[in-house]
Amino acid sequence: MKKILVSGGAGFIGSHLCMRLIKEGHKVICLDNLFTGSEENIAHLKGNPLFKFVHHDVEYPYEADVDEIYNLACPASPVHYQYDAIKTIKTSVLGAINLLELAKKTNAKILQASTSEIYGDPMIHPQVEGYWGNVNPIGIRSCYDEGKRCSETLFMDYHRQAGLRIKIIRIFNTYGPRMLPGDGRVVSNFVVQALQGNDITIYGSGQQTRSFQYVDDLIEGMVRMMDTEDDFTGPVNLGNPNEFSILELAEKVIKLTNSNSKLVFKPLPHDDPKQRQPDITLAKAKLGWKPTIELEDGLHHIIEYFKEYVPN
Ligand code: NAD
Ligand code: UDP
Repeated sequence: MKKILVSGGAGFIGSHLCMRLIKEGHKVICLDNLFTGSEENIAHLKGNPLFKFVHHDVEYPYEADVDEIYNLACPASPVHYQYDAIKTIKTSVLGAINLLELAKKTNAKILQASTSEIYGDPMIHPQVEGYWGNVNPIGIRSCYDEGKRCSETLFMDYHRQAGLRIKIIRIFNTYGPRMLPGDGRVVSNFVVQALQGNDITIYGSGQQTRSFQYVDDLIEGMVRMMDTEDDFTGPVNLGNPNEFSILELAEKVIKLTNSNSKLVFKPLPHDDPKQRQPDITLAKAKLGWKPTIELEDGLHHIIEYFKEYVPN
């Protein structure tokens, strides 16, 4: 049994990770300031003696004796991370420093939930880990992109300078149950709009692409990454290489929900990446991992979930 700290553990991905670790018999401390997470996401774990929730902001240091740390604390939807951009950067940078310091003190292994946003609006397709990216450092997405890039730098510097055992994963668009209905990201927006018979909001022409990964596949990859040999730090891409345009996604959601919703076209947000597809050769080789859940199957799960949670 390991003692594992999960920051951002009350969020969408974090709550699935906490559940997986508890199922494996580990003790989990979930640190969260509940900015976008909720106690409801972890309600099924409350009362479990292996689980402890601590209301805490990672901008400030935290002390605990742990074997492993997963750092997920950071709002992930553009709507939420742009709400207070300065706070987003502080969360990424100070959060990384505080948790790296804790890892140093306790000799814990530490994993950073980084992102495909590291690649910005990519000039290389599909994206390989060796690509340094095309990120606007002063745009409205920069608080998130540059915060995450700086966190990767910090992780590598603590590894080189202090010998910390670190792991970096770059997560591509992930969806699944426990996303907030008002999360703002495309899958949750489209499913909720379709279920409620509201217009489906396509930003721009809808020709831009994303590669959507179901949350269970991601959790499997994350846990495998934490368990790799100490000399493998990553970064490693974790995503589903099947790429779809936003229009294709809208059509699938309308078909699967049997909805009468119409498409409406809204302005494309600034710096919105045109395409996204992970090259997962490294993850296959080092983790023996690849996604197993196709988009239609994953959409089916999230549609069933939202049917219960949103009024129609
Ligand atoms: P989420 O918003 O549901 O979860 C983030 C969690 O972090 C929330 O519970 C929130 O309350 C918490 N948090 C935010 N700021 C905090 C702070 N200062 N102190 C403590 N807790 C704080 O988003 P998610 O989709 O579950 O994303 C989890 C992680 O995965 C994030 O780091 C995100 O950048 C990364 N990621 C997600 C995706 C995706 O598609 N979902 C893609 C790439 C990377
Ligand atoms: N998008 C859209 N309609 C929405 C929400 C998002 O067309 O209601 C688009 C958005 O402009 C982007 C893509 O869908 O091109 C993915 O957006 P999301 O916010 O989910 O993730 P990210 O842009 O961070 O990959």
